[in-house]
Amino acid sequence: MLIDGQFVIGEGEMEKVLNPATGQELVSVPEATVDQVHKAVSAAHRAFDAWSETTPMERSRLLLKLADAIEAKAETFARLESLNCGKPYARALGDEIPAITDCYRYFAGAARCMSGTVANEYLAGHTSMIRRDPIGVVASIAPWNYPLMMAAWKTAPALAAGNTVVLKPSEQTPLTTLLLAELAAEIFPKGVFNVICGRGPTVGQPLVEHPKVAMVSVTGDVATGRKILQAATGTLKRTHLELGGKAPVIVFDDADLDAVVDGIRTFGYYNAGQDCTAACRLYAGAKVYDRLVADLSSAVKTLKMGTQDEADVEIGPLISDRQRNRVASFVERAQMTGHMEITAGGKLRSGAGFFYEPTVIAGARQDDEIVKREVFGPVVSVTRFSDTEQAIAWANDSDYGLASSVWTQDVARAMRVAKKLQYGCTWINTHFMLVNEMPHGGLKSSGYGKDMSMYALEDYTVARHVMVKF
Ligand code: NAD
Repeated sequence: MLIDGQFVIGEGEMEKVLNPATGQELVSVPEATVDQVHKAVSAAHRAFDAWSETTPMERSRLLLKLADAIEAKAETFARLESLNCGKPYARALGDEIPAITDCYRYFAGAARCMSGTVANEYLAGHTSMIRRDPIGVVASIAPWNYPLMMAAWKTAPALAAGNTVVLKPSEQTPLTTLLLAELAAEIFPKGVFNVICGRGPTVGQPLVEHPKVAMVSVTGDVATGRKILQAATGTLKRTHLELGGKAPVIVFDDADLDAVVDGIRTFGYYNAGQDCTAACRLYAGAKVYDRLVADLSSAVKTLKMGTQDEADVEIGPLISDRQRNRVASFVERAQMTGHMEITAGGKLRSGAGFFYEPTVIAGARQDDEIVKREVFGPVVSVTRFSDTEQAIAWANDSDYGLASSVWTQDVARAMRVAKKLQYGCTWINTHFMLVNEMPHGGLKSSGYGKDMSMYALEDYTVARHVMVKF
C-alpha cells in the first residue's frame, strides 16, 4: 500500500485475489489495519496545505506525467486488469487504457479552465467574487468492474482541484491500483496520493468515518451507498455516490433494427454485462418486437465467450462464483414465472472459471423482477410496449436513474422522449458511449454527483464568496 509516500505492507487479514477465468488464486493481498487507515488519512491531511497551494499549472503538469507513465506501461496495466477481472486483454488495452489516460489529461486541462460568475459590485461599494477551493482529504472508494478506470474517474478531478486522496480499490481487484500507486509515488509529493487495501466493513468503514476525511466518493452498490451515507452523517461529510443502474432501451417501430441488434449485442454484454449503464432492459414496439427478439437472440449466440487471451474473445467470465450464482438465480426465477422465455443462453458454462452464457429473456413484464432489479451480468430482458406514453412511463418506473437510450429515426420523437426520461444520460440511436468532456452520474437510487467533465471538478471543489468593501 502507499501511505505518506512509503510502500508498506498491510498488517490486517490476507485477502485472496483470483483470476475469474480459472478460479485460481493470483496472489494474496493483506488488508490495512484501522491504524494504517488512520495513518493514510493523517498523511493526506498533512499534505493538503501545500498541495492546495500549488497552481493549476503545477497540478496539471503532474497529472499529464501520470497519464504518460500509465501509457508507457499500457500493456502491463491491461494485462493485470484482464487477469484480475477476467476481461478480454484486447479490450482492456484498446478500450480502457486510452480512456483512463485521457481522463487524467482531460482534468489536467480542466484544472486550468474553470469558469464562473464574474466579480462585480452586486452591492454598491462592495466587490464580490467567487472562489472554487479544494475540499480537503477525499476518500475514494472504487468497485471491481473497471478498477483502474474508476480510480481515474475519482482521483483525476480530486487531485486536479487541489484535494489529497486516500484511494481504496475493491478487495477483489486491487492489482492495477497498486501499480498506479507505484507510478503516483514517483510523481506526487508524499501524502497527496495514498492507496490502502481491504474490505468494506474493515477498511472502507473506518476510512469513511475518519473525522479528517472531508469528502467520500464511492462507486458501488446501492446498499453500500446507503451505509456510506449513514457513516458520513457523524461528521456531515460531503458525499459523491455513483451507484447501480438498470438502463431502459426504448426501441420504436421505425428504428434501424440491424443497428439496434448490433448495438445491444455489444452494449448489453460488454464486460460480461457488469456495467452500471449496460443496455439490459429493452422495451420494443409491437411491430418490431418479434423480429428484435429473434435477431437479437441469434446475434447474442454468436458472442465469443472465453479467457483473456483467446483469439477474438468478446465476453469473459463474471468476477466471482458468488456473482455468477446471483446472475443464475435471477434467470432461474424468471424462468419459474412461466410467462418468460429464455431465447439465448440461460446456463452456466461448466469447467473452470465463473462463466455464464450471454442471455436473452423475452416476454418480460413491467412488474417482473428481471425488469426491476439490477442483475449486473450478461442478461437482457425484452418487454413489448404499445405506445410512446407507456414506454416512457415504464422506462421511468424504476428505482434507478443512471442511463437510458432511445432508438428511432424520428428526431422529434427522440428529443421528446429524451426530455421525459429521468436518467442522468440518454443516448439516441446508440448506448454506452462516454467521453471525458461530458458528465456521468445518476438520479434516484443511482446516486448523485458527476464523474468526468467540468461538473466533476465542481463536485470536488467548494464555491465560496469573498466580498471586499471599498
Ligand atoms: P460494492 O458496493 O460491493 O463495493 C464497492 C466498494 O465499496 C468496494 O471498494 C467495497 O470494498 C466498498 N465498500 C463496501 N462496503 C463498504 C462500507 N460499509 N464502507 C466503505 N466502503 C465499503 O460494489 P461492487 O460489487 O464492487 O460493484 C458493483 C456495483 O457498482 C454495482 O451495483 C454497479 O452498478 C455499481 N457501479 C456503478 C457505477 C456508476 O458509475 N454508477 C459504475 C460502476 C459500478
